[in-house]
Amino acid sequence: MVQSKRGCLIVISGPSGSGKTTLLRELYQRCNRPLVASVSATTRRPRPGEVDGVDYHFLDEDEFARRRAAGDFLECFEVYGRGHWYGTLRHEVATGLEAGKWVVLEIDVQGTKAIVDQFPDAVTIFVRPASTAELEQRLRRRATESEDELRRRLDVARRELDQADVYRYQVVNDDLAEAVSQLCRIVETCGD
Ligand code: ADP
Ligand code: 5GP
Repeated sequence: MVQSKRGCLIVISGPSGSGKTTLLRELYQRCNRPLVASVSATTRRPRPGEVDGVDYHFLDEDEFARRRAAGDFLECFEVYGRGHWYGTLRHEVATGLEAGKWVVLEIDVQGTKAIVDQFPDAVTIFVRPASTAELEQRLRRRATESEDELRRRLDVARRELDQADVYRYQVVNDDLAEAVSQLCRIVETCGD
């Protein structure tokens, strides 16, 4: 439990391609808890199919800077390797926690450290691939990045994997069903 009397905070990170989106989709369907995603703000442009207010709150750089100066973010960083700002909005988390929800943040390692400083009881989970070779194969199969972009993501992934011990739990996403079960079990410890 964190700061709110009822809600909990769950933080998930992991390299691009480690399976966070896939695992979270399963978690939201299978875990019988009042989970809600915190929608971050970002200065990057929406990708095709992304919806403002659902995938992110898409802000231009001036608006992001204004909200940062106004103290609207619990944490915000220029996420390494992305070249854009991302931040967790204070009101997204507060609204969820006050309603007794289990608020899920999908953020990077810098953001996780800042959240843990403010919410020491947050449940932090790092999703790892079975190996970097497997990560590369998955990114290639997903086929959503150019070769340059893929190389860049793999470089970033190596640095992220080096910081995995910041997290309270690590889930190896090798067998999907096993990883989903582990994730559910960890999430269900929230509020104990
Ligand atoms: P992320 O959100 O961390 O970038 P994704 O959820 O998009 O990662 O997963 C990357 C790719 O790997 C997707 O094509 C997904 O279908 C596939 N994938 C995810 N988990 C597994 C798994 N356990 N075994 C095999 N493929 C997986
Ligand atoms: P995307 O692929 O959506 O452009 O970027 C996702 C990356 O940004 C991931 O590393 C994710 O963890 C990080 N990210 C998304 N939202 C936030 C946030 O609010 N704060 C921080 N610190 N990182 C975020």
